[in-house]
Amino acid sequence: MNLNELTIKEARLKLDSGKISSLDLTSACLAQIKKLNPDINAVLTVCEESALAGAKDADARLKKGERTELLGIPYLCKDNFTTKGIRTTAASKILENYIAPYDATVIRKLKEAGAVLLGKTNLDEFAHGASTENSAYGVTKNPLDLSRVAGGSSGGSTAGVAANMCIFAIGSDTGGSVRCPASFCGIVGLKPSYGRVSRFGLLSMTSSTDVVGVLAKTPYDTAVVLKEIAGNDKLDATSAPEKITDYKEAVNSFDFEDDFDKNNPELLKGLRVGWPKEYYLKELNPEILNNMKAVADKLKAAGAEIKEVSLPYTKYCVPVYYIITPSEISSNLARFDGIGWGLAKHETANLQEFYKTNRGLGFGAETKRRIMLGTYALSAGYYEAYYKKAQAVRTLIIEDFNKAFKDVDILLTPTEPHPAFKIGANSNDVLAMYLEDIFVSGASLAGLPAISIPAGLVDGLPVGAQLIGPRLREDLILKIAEFISKK
Ligand code: GLN
Repeated sequence: MNLNELTIKEARLKLDSGKISSLDLTSACLAQIKKLNPDINAVLTVCEESALAGAKDADARLKKGERTELLGIPYLCKDNFTTKGIRTTAASKILENYIAPYDATVIRKLKEAGAVLLGKTNLDEFAHGASTENSAYGVTKNPLDLSRVAGGSSGGSTAGVAANMCIFAIGSDTGGSVRCPASFCGIVGLKPSYGRVSRFGLLSMTSSTDVVGVLAKTPYDTAVVLKEIAGNDKLDATSAPEKITDYKEAVNSFDFEDDFDKNNPELLKGLRVGWPKEYYLKELNPEILNNMKAVADKLKAAGAEIKEVSLPYTKYCVPVYYIITPSEISSNLARFDGIGWGLAKHETANLQEFYKTNRGLGFGAETKRRIMLGTYALSAGYYEAYYKKAQAVRTLIIEDFNKAFKDVDILLTPTEPHPAFKIGANSNDVLAMYLEDIFVSGASLAGLPAISIPAGLVDGLPVGAQLIGPRLREDLILKIAEFISKK
């Protein structure tokens, strides 16, 4: 096995026992990026020099006897997190030359933990999309089938993990952007509860649903990363004050490779798994339904109870999301004018022209569409009819989940309605692209933790199962995800 194919858990053992160095591991990942990135286009900026220096530093810490979870582990990060001294583009022309003077809190925490940043990954411009086709720097291809999308908007981070260019990756999830690509590329993607991980340094898209997400090869690895990055942060007023749980401890209950019996009917006794009927309409791809039933059967065999529940406002999740999201985007993106780090053209007749020219050149089509939709939804005369109404319905969506969690502990749904689609298939159909979010937007609007894990194949391509938990119960969904992932 090549070193770049290791999980965090496997790499940790080898690093701690001195069998390999972080420099070996980091070099193997950098070599894989060099080899595959020209085809896949997952990484926009490779930080080879600083990565090698970081690896050497980690090796020195290891030699001194330091033993921490992520020490010496190389990772990739989505290019919408600020990284001191390293370009942050958000895959937009308007930030083409932006080098932030500060690290996002997540980056700072990972740095302190000794993780090694390999580079910054491709995304839909400002994270607007579900396919990574909306990047100003070209589409990211699915490593499993280069004619298909990797999903989005964290397509680069996800493809990076799936193609073994890194050991784990950081993404962001505003309305499915970690879970969708995880499903399309056959890996694990966690969207934590709103506020569980600090958003400081994550370029704002929809401030009321933006969260930092983790992309990894196993739920165990995901738990390890979450433990390092979670927690309250005085630099993010919306970060949750509650203490973090030991996520690794939670998944460790299924960590006994030898005597693990998945059919032990006592293993999950008492666990109530909700099967929300609005996610299983008759139009659902029958093969996806079968895969989901197989997951449910596995849980049942271990003693869990599967209960049908109803989330009646599910059909409004996508419409509500696509009013609230553009509204917040139109406000958040008002700050960009291209001055300083974009392509700003200064020879304009007046200020009005200056903005028109530079925002016109700097933003791509989807970003402009969202700015216009959002400006419209917030404008006098339409605010009540659109934005305010959407917020009211959002409350009903939240109440749906609150009610369901009175009867069940977690919810089990498909992540996406189909496997990865062909590049270009949705390009002329904005609505079809927005409908990719049909199963993932609900947890985002309600701020709930949700994870996508591989759940078999459809037409030879991976599809994901989504587990949604009550607020701040990342420990629970990670634990059940680990159980499902065990062969
Ligand atoms: N597909 C969603 C959108 O385009 C999700 C984006 C995200 O989570 N960043 O808005």
